[in-house]
Amino acid sequence: MKRLLLDSNPQTEELLRQRAVAVRQQLYGKRVYIRGLIEFTNYCKNDCYYCGIRRSNKKASRYRLSIEEILDCCKRGYALGFRTFVLQGGEDGYYTDERLCHIIGEIRSLYPDCAITLSIGEKSKESYQRYYEAGANRYLLRHETACEAHYEMLHPKEMSLSNRKRCLQDLKEIGYQVGCGFMVGSPYQTIEHILDDLSFIKEFKPHMVGIGPYLVHKDTPFCNEKSGDYRLTLKLLSIIRLMLPNVLLPATTALGTISPKGREEGILSGANVLMPNLSPVMVREKYSLYDNKICTGDEAAECVACMKRRMESSGYEVVVDRGDFRK
Ligand code: SAH
Repeated sequence: MKRLLLDSNPQTEELLRQRAVAVRQQLYGKRVYIRGLIEFTNYCKNDCYYCGIRRSNKKASRYRLSIEEILDCCKRGYALGFRTFVLQGGEDGYYTDERLCHIIGEIRSLYPDCAITLSIGEKSKESYQRYYEAGANRYLLRHETACEAHYEMLHPKEMSLSNRKRCLQDLKEIGYQVGCGFMVGSPYQTIEHILDDLSFIKEFKPHMVGIGPYLVHKDTPFCNEKSGDYRLTLKLLSIIRLMLPNVLLPATTALGTISPKGREEGILSGANVLMPNLSPVMVREKYSLYDNKICTGDEAAECVACMKRRMESSGYEVVVDRGDFRK
């Protein structure tokens, strides 16, 4: 595997890509699933060194969406063909379990045919259980790096890889479809770290894997670091598809940010999910994990039309479907 990662021969990349696409084709055909991403708060109690919405970033202009605003996003999203809503945010204490369960419950009863995905960080098993019972089905929690020492270089000492892993385990036990993942080219990352990430993923067998290039945010301690490598990210998408043939694998916004055709290339490397932004345009710029994030000025409808066009021109089809994990 190490040789494969270090081999920068374009022919190797092409071969990996072809194999990944063939494997994905058998299970999912040309279908690409879309998830409506609702970035409902950028308040965060954590202070991850790479992230633009970390609590120490005093320049971040903070916002929270009300339940009415969130439900309005779902309404517009449903009409546009979304059958999965992803509630993502910083770890914001304002959204107590009670408030979250109320929001999840409303979405569940209004949209019984939709999947609800949460991406709201580390919580207790009891909290995860409550959200599940309120109607949530899936949870995205990137492990960020599978190496303890590297984890400590990316996070302040009150955060730990062991707690992150505990969360992932709890989520799986409760019955969620679970996603882990990491940033490609995060500061201090070595090839050995990536090998550890791949081993972790292989062992954990998540239903979803979120990977994208690390991108610099100017108001973080890592403002002078380099962004991740585009081609390596594509190669890793292919490798992950081959490792876990039925995994749900998004071509992320970060991939689309680092290169104009990033998301198309991601799909052509083995990804099968896109996560267009459903957040109100007013708050898009504020949910800034990294600099120069794309699609901050477009209405959801424009994003979907644009995705459909992009996928069709690459020979793929955006479908109206929950896009559940297939065994
Ligand atoms: N707070 C939640 C979800 C929001 S962050 C959580 O902790 O899971 C979602 C993901 O964005 C993170 O897991 C991280 O991998 C990624 N991310 C954060 N900052 C980034 C950056 N500067 N470049 C690329 N990805 C970043």
